[in-house]
Amino acid sequence: METGPIKVGILALQGGVAEHAGSLRRAGARPVAVRLPEHLDGLDALILPGGESTTIGKLAKRFGLLEPLRQFAAVRPVWGTCAGMILLARDIGADPPLLGVMDIGVRRNAFGRQADSFVTHLLVPEIEEGATRPFPAVFIRAPQLVAASGRARIIARLADGTPVAAREGRLLATAFHPEITEDDRFHRYFLKIISQAGETGPPETIRASSAGENR
Ligand code: GLN
Repeated sequence: METGPIKVGILALQGGVAEHAGSLRRAGARPVAVRLPEHLDGLDALILPGGESTTIGKLAKRFGLLEPLRQFAAVRPVWGTCAGMILLARDIGADPPLLGVMDIGVRRNAFGRQADSFVTHLLVPEIEEGATRPFPAVFIRAPQLVAASGRARIIARLADGTPVAAREGRLLATAFHPEITEDDRFHRYFLKIISQAGETGPPETIRASSAGENR
């Protein structure tokens, strides 16, 4: 396997790309901007940033990225934040799903107008063993996570029980934006998911062998 820093792509069509790049660098990984299908080659993982999911979805379609992104998510770790979580979800309400690769249901802008933007502190044991330091979670016109089924499980909740983050194997989804805080624990957690998934071989082999079996 190639040595050197873990290479994490960031879908760079629209939204919070630079912020994720900064967090990844601080956590010791190498960020790579992804705008075309070939930019996925050789990446260890991918982040789908926040932004506007309808815009990101339209641009991804225009650049021929939807199917390559689905194939990538079938074999590599992918983390969606906010709009990125909407991209991942199999159920987004009335509209057809965008990538539809993760067993979660979400509702866009479900936190309503007055709560367009808020910060809260969450205890997330999953990101750090024995964590006692709350994570500052920033919500910006966030989608709500309304369901997690199959192998997907909720890993963070608001104080009132509302689910706000989920994990399904190598897929991670957060309704909030860890990249705009100084706290890199979610990025480090994602890097841990990547190194655990890393034993499966080089991306070329995986891409070739999985080509026929993707949804
Ligand atoms: N409201 C946006 C959407 O529905 C998501 C907002 C965000 O990513 N900060 O796509």
